[in-house]
Amino acid sequence: MSPAETHTPGACTPRAGLYECDCAAGHLWLIDLAGHAFPSFPPGCSAGLWRAKDPGTTAPAGPESDSKL
Ligand SMILES: [Zn+2]
Repeated sequence: MSPAETHTPGACTPRAGLYECDCAAGHLWLIDLAGHAFPSFPPGCSAGLWRAKDPGTTAPAGPESDSKL
């Protein structure tokens, strides 16, 4: 298992990168420097955490469930 790196609004950004909220809309926030504070969530966003997005992965990593009966 790879534990997702999550942060709460107001927490210090560990590094630059792209972060995604955990609501259904998947709001994105680009952090350009480490040491900034994570922003509050945008209006209408029901997220509770910012989640670091892996810049090296563009395709969704789904389970390998391609075997059908
Ligand atoms: Zn959101």
